[in-house]
Order: sequence, then C-alpha cells, then structure tokens
Amino acid sequence: MEKTDIKSLTLEELSTQFAGLGLPKFRAGQVFRWLARGVTDFSQMSDLSKDLREQLSQRYAIRGVEILRKQVSQIDGTIKYLFRLFDGECVESVVMRYHYGNSICISTQVGCKMNCSFCATGKSGFSRNLSPSEILSQVQMGSIDIGERISHVVLMGMGEPLDNYENVLRFLQLCTCKEGLGLSMRGISLSTCGIVDKIYDLADKKLQLTLSVSLHAPNDRIRGRTMPINKRWPLDELIKACRYYVRQTGRRISFEYAMIAGVNDSDACARELAGRLKGLLAHVNLIPVNDVTGTGYKKSGIPRQKRFVEILQGQGITATVRRTLGADIEASCGQLRRKHEGGDGYEGSL
Ligand code: SAH
Repeated sequence: MEKTDIKSLTLEELSTQFAGLGLPKFRAGQVFRWLARGVTDFSQMSDLSKDLREQLSQRYAIRGVEILRKQVSQIDGTIKYLFRLFDGECVESVVMRYHYGNSICISTQVGCKMNCSFCATGKSGFSRNLSPSEILSQVQMGSIDIGERISHVVLMGMGEPLDNYENVLRFLQLCTCKEGLGLSMRGISLSTCGIVDKIYDLADKKLQLTLSVSLHAPNDRIRGRTMPINKRWPLDELIKACRYYVRQTGRRISFEYAMIAGVNDSDACARELAGRLKGLLAHVNLIPVNDVTGTGYKKSGIPRQKRFVEILQGQGITATVRRTLGADIEASCGQLRRKHEGGDGYEGSL
C-alpha cells in the first residue's frame, strides 16, 4: 500500500481519517501541530505512544525537504537554498530579510512549462508539480534553518503556481490555518504569468493575498515574442481578468515588468502600458532584467528606468523599481535553476 502524504492533509481531513482508524478526536490536532512544527519523523512526536507512532508510520509518509546546498549573500544576508525532495528532484528557495520581517520566495513546480524567453527555470523543462507538503516544507525548513519566524511568503520561485492550482490552494489553506503556520493571507503573494481561467477562479475565492501578474510587455507583439502563454491568453483578456480580480477582492494587483534594453523599455512602451492599466487598482514593479545565459537580454540602464517610472507616474500609474537582493548568489527573479550533472546536481553560477 502506498503511504499517504500526511502533511498535505488539512486538519479536517486528518480528523476524518483518524476517526476512521478509531483514534480519539484530539489525536488529529496533536499530530497536525507536530507536522506544522516541521518534524520529519513520527518518532519525534514525543507525546504519542510508541505503538501509535509505529501505526502511523506504516500508513503515512511525512514529506519534507532537505537542504542540499545553501548560499548566503555577503551583501545583504539573503540566503538561497537548494532543497532536495523525497525522489531526488531539487528546487530552490530564497530567504530575504526585510525591516518588516523575514520573507521566503518558494517554488511550486520542479521546472516550468511556460518557457518565458528571459527566464532560467523554463530552460531545463518541466519535471513535476510539488505537493502541498513540499511547498509548505520550504517555508518550514527556511524558518528552522534561520531560527526565526518567516512572516511573508512569495510564490515566485520555480514554476507557475496557477499551473499547480489545486496543490497551491491547499498549501495556502495549510499555512494560514491557525493550527498550522498561522500566516496571514495578506503576507502572501502569488505570481502568475497569466493563466486567465485560474485568475477568474481565484478572484471568486476572494482571498486577501496579493496577486502579482508578470506582464513584461505593453502589447501582444512584444509579449507574444517573450511569453508563449500570451498566445493562449492575449493581453486584453489578461487585463480583463485582472479588472475582475480587483472588483471581486478589492485588492491591488502588482504587475511585474522586467525591463529589457531595446525590447520593452522605450517611452512608447511606457505610454502604452499606462494606457492599458488606466483605472485599474495596480502597482507596477519594474525589475531590471536579470542576466540569464543564452538569452542575450541586457538590463535597461538607470536613466531609462527612471524615465519609464516618470512616464507611468505622469499618467497616474504608481510604479517603483524593485531593489535587487542576493545579487552575488544569483538569487534574483528568474535566476533559479537547477541542473542535473551528476554530483550534487547543482550549478552555482548560471
Ligand atoms: N511563474 C510565475 C512565478 C515565477 S517567476 C510568473 O511567471 O509570475 C517570478 C518572476 O520572475 C516573474 O515575474 C518572472 O517573469 C520574473 N522573471 C523571470 N526571469 C526573469 C529575469 N531574467 N529577470 C527578471 N525577472 C524575471
């Protein structure tokens, strides 16, 4: 019999299963709280009898992540982890220290199907979705390793969260429930390249998380060249879904825009972008594109970044240039990528 991935279960589901096993009611809460604390083995659940621990370990597996490699930025203390999953696959996460607390950027898939031209993750293809327990374990392991609470989570690592929608929803439930990690939904950001049907679905759930939409272009001509998803859902449809999202949730959308010299950073692009976003509760996050080997893309210069922000702001669109953290350990957006080449399967510099 294949063991059930116990950390992917909600407290309710665990209660139902335990009731079925004839266990007393309080056991589910007890086990759930141990799991939320990040234990990796039933033997660590010290207030359970040996027999019960044995019984549970026959039936259930505790899926965690192991630290395979860790790099600490000498500039700002940002930490990049390479985590190993139970089947040998690997994903990366990044812990960032901010004045408001610790934040972790986590992965939702091993690889990615979306294939955006500027992103490193898509270059190694797609292996599989992460389970809710594996998504959760990244937050737990980051927190255990730094010995501090992590209050903010961004789903902006490897993978497309809305392409692993059910597991991501379950993860959100697990990390915000009070017997779980007890995080605030407002401290969570989810970034998508624009999976429109799921944006509508998410909107109807009216969660208080922050939705980030990776726009990176003001029109279909440019976006179609850099982001294949644009062929499935062109900009008009994406922005329409974003307007619906704001109406349903009352939450401001954050638009990500990686500035690529000579590709999407002209004055005309800024004006066109402003036109598209008119009247939408939004913030534009400009990110000078990170250099990923093989793309040939270059960052826009600082004067160009400033000019772009000025034009957007002049048209009433709030915009800022995002600060780069972990530049010396290649921990920035789009730079997370694993590579299987034997050894520890890790390539430090991309
Ligand atoms: N799949 C999701 C989340 C993962 S990528 C998404 O597309 O939003 C996280 C962010 O990094 C996205 O905004 C993505 O477009 C951006 N990104 C990818 N490669 C980048 C690069 N080379 N430079 C800057 N940002 C990049």
